[in-house]
Amino acid sequence: MFITEYTDTVEQSGEYLRLALDYMGQFSIPVDPINYTVWYEYVSGRNESLKGEIDRFLKHPERFTVKVCKELFRRYIAEGQGVAVEEMRQEIRRIIAEILKHIMDAGGEVSRYGEVLETYADELVDNLDADEIRNIVDRIILETKSMEESGEVLKKRLMATTQEVEALRKDLEKVRKEATTDTLTGLANRRYFEEVLEREANEASGSGKDLCLIMADIDNFKHVNDTYGHLVGDKVLKVTASMIKDSVKGRDFVARYGGEEFVIVLSDTPIQGAKIVADKMREYFESTRMKRKDTGEFIGKVTLSFGVARYRHGESVDELIQRADRALYVSKNRGRNCVTTEDALLS
Ligand code: GH3
Ligand code: MG
Ligand code: MG
Repeated sequence: MFITEYTDTVEQSGEYLRLALDYMGQFSIPVDPINYTVWYEYVSGRNESLKGEIDRFLKHPERFTVKVCKELFRRYIAEGQGVAVEEMRQEIRRIIAEILKHIMDAGGEVSRYGEVLETYADELVDNLDADEIRNIVDRIILETKSMEESGEVLKKRLMATTQEVEALRKDLEKVRKEATTDTLTGLANRRYFEEVLEREANEASGSGKDLCLIMADIDNFKHVNDTYGHLVGDKVLKVTASMIKDSVKGRDFVARYGGEEFVIVLSDTPIQGAKIVADKMREYFESTRMKRKDTGEFIGKVTLSFGVARYRHGESVDELIQRADRALYVSKNRGRNCVTTEDALLS
């Protein structure tokens, strides 16, 4: 059986349920657990390769049969990334075998060339006349040309192989990127965030430097979805992501934590500094009006609530996340659109 970590909230998963059922109806796919998993993964956008495959069927839903659905499950969920990695492993094996063959072929040519040269050396006895010597020289030139040509062939083959290896490297980078990126916003995903936070916390514990975490959650986002629809909601999420990214320095790490929640990891930053960053971000959203591109209609003010916490050297990252989350909760209770630092918590 497959093991996938789903961390969606009740609201979010409800939204996905609705979307998945819609699609499954359109494609006449029975709602069994396996088929549903495929469509859940599709609508949540968490599985980019699967999404790419299904998108191709959107114009020809009749081709998307139950059999196709089961196959997608096997390929992209049950075996998941393992499939991509295994395919690449085999591809590398094939390329190496090819290189070896080219080299052996060339090696055969080289040793044949050596043998031919030796026979010519043997033929170069004392009593040869100029014509005979010229004849041998001509043959040496011919052989050398042919050797040169097979050298060229090897060079070309190796160049082609280099290109194949380059393409493979790009594929590997793509797989890595898919595994660390949130498809909708292009920000780092939660899994990658956890990896980075763990690393930064270890580093801060070692160096004694400050490390802070900001959690931000869009206020009344459900209202945006309810008023303008899910697609506009998605656009708002995208714009929010890029506004957050714009308002931090390059070295701060931004990720989408879940539905409409974002996190920012600030290394080597005291909590007063992190609070300033959050304050500026809050003001940026408050003073920005988002507009629908299609109708030009303004979307009601999109604001965010923030929670800011400072890492205590040696504690687990979960404790840090929880404090930031509790501070964020205080911001919500204080009426939203504000910043709360962990000092406000009774610890
Ligand atoms: P609060 O101010 O308390 O945070 O209210 P809220 O409405 O933002 O929070 P709530 O947790 O009640 O609702 C979050 C909503 O976010 C519900 C869900 O439909 C929506 N949502 C979550 N993920 C996505 C997504 O990927 N796309 C869209 N369009 N909406 C999403
Ligand atoms: Mg919210
Ligand atoms: Mg939320």
